[in-house]
Amino acid sequence: MGSSGDFPAMPRAAAQYLNPDKNLSFATLNLHPDLLRAIKELGFVRPTSIQADAIPPAMAGRDLLACAQTGSGKTAAFLLPILNQLIGTKRGTTRALIVTPTRELAAQIVEDLKDLATHTPVTGAAIFGGVGMGPQEHAFRSGVDVLVATPGRLLDHLKYSYASLDKIEYLVLDEADRMLDMGFLPEIRKILKRVPAKRQTLCFSATMPPPIAVLTREMLNDPARINLERQSTPATGITQAVYPVGAELKTALFLALLQRGDMQEALVFTRTKHRADRLTKALVKAGISADRIHGNRSQAQRTAALAGFKAGKTRVLVATDIVARGIDIEDLGHVVNFDVPAAPEDYVHRIGRTARAAATGDAFTLAAPNEEPDLRNIERVLGKRLPRVLIPDFDYTAKTDTALEIPLAERIAAIRARKSEDRARSKAKQARKGPSGPRADAPAGSRPSGQGSGAARSGPSRGGPARGGSRGGSGGNRGGSGGGRSR
Ligand code: AMP
Repeated sequence: MGSSGDFPAMPRAAAQYLNPDKNLSFATLNLHPDLLRAIKELGFVRPTSIQADAIPPAMAGRDLLACAQTGSGKTAAFLLPILNQLIGTKRGTTRALIVTPTRELAAQIVEDLKDLATHTPVTGAAIFGGVGMGPQEHAFRSGVDVLVATPGRLLDHLKYSYASLDKIEYLVLDEADRMLDMGFLPEIRKILKRVPAKRQTLCFSATMPPPIAVLTREMLNDPARINLERQSTPATGITQAVYPVGAELKTALFLALLQRGDMQEALVFTRTKHRADRLTKALVKAGISADRIHGNRSQAQRTAALAGFKAGKTRVLVATDIVARGIDIEDLGHVVNFDVPAAPEDYVHRIGRTARAAATGDAFTLAAPNEEPDLRNIERVLGKRLPRVLIPDFDYTAKTDTALEIPLAERIAAIRARKSEDRARSKAKQARKGPSGPRADAPAGSRPSGQGSGAARSGPSRGGPARGGSRGGSGGNRGGSGGGRSR
């Protein structure tokens, strides 16, 4: 949903997620006609499996515990029942809260919401770090129907009196396992304390690690359980292959694949932000248009990189895993694991970026000898051995100086320099603030302009937090970018 805005939009859920029962249509799910109209315009012919399973119990008011991965149509699976219930209510009260791990996901969910709610009066807004607080404050004050928030930035707002979750009737935890990975469990518990106990809760997670199982037992009331027995398995249209190669030759091999025309465009994942930067540099130096997207990049930079790639201006988008889940790109033919992901679930999620739109896609993994154990773990989860492919003309014995790692001493020096800059900045900030310290609530009209909030619909604002920038490190660093981990 969302990105093209053309009518009729093409359906993008991979064919294997569609419910096999061809007689099952959205019309049989008792959805409001205004929602059915939007669904039709989006080109969704019939529900995906998760939608067919989740929508009826959710419409009946039940809590849900669902295992679903990105690409399965899970967003509409939780949005539709909520929208359906909100259509008949009075505007001006925030009744639904969706908590999701990354900025990209939050932005995507609001886009999807706008698409699905287009013929209804229901409103939504995104709350995430890295952009101004002011417009988001307006979303709280005006009582948009649905807030889609990353945990850190949401808690930042909740320090102010204008922000309240007292009227929440619907709570969604999206990608709960990813929030756990990112260290958000304490934040989730804090948020749970701020929403009414009497509510409907929908929890979606690709996997069910023990801490999430514990959390769900605490927060869900006799939930309908969906797909819990199914582990993540990749989309069936994907052709997967492994390219064994020495660590120092990965860049050269990837360039060879591009130059041979094995792939026109590619979304490439690296293990760290640093490797993403270096790989991008090396590609650009070799004349390949490339950009990168990771937790150290500003929201504006990420948005621009993604837009450039979507528009076909850049041939290669290099990303770290943390941003992988929010990326929704149509017709993406190739995903390349430049490094073997340590967790098999990450592999499944990454390659879920391809083979959407019922198309087939390729997922190539470059594997150095020391990554073989991780690769074997992945193969165990997939239940099959991935084919190893050698490129005939590639010189696997070449000596190269294109290793992507920076020597440790150089890295430590860079970190030290950055930290001392941070300290100087915060000292200067403290000095500017003066002796009185921060204020309990926000003065009116102090919001910086021009920073997008992601608010779906907004009007004039009436006052804002003390500073509009990316304060509240929790939202800015982790809520959006996953900076809590070195990715
Ligand atoms: P999600 O798993 O929510 O990220 O959805 C993946 C993609 O599937 C999005 O681009 C949706 O627009 C699309 N989608 C969702 N439901 C359907 C459906 N019933 N039929 C076709 N495409 C869908």
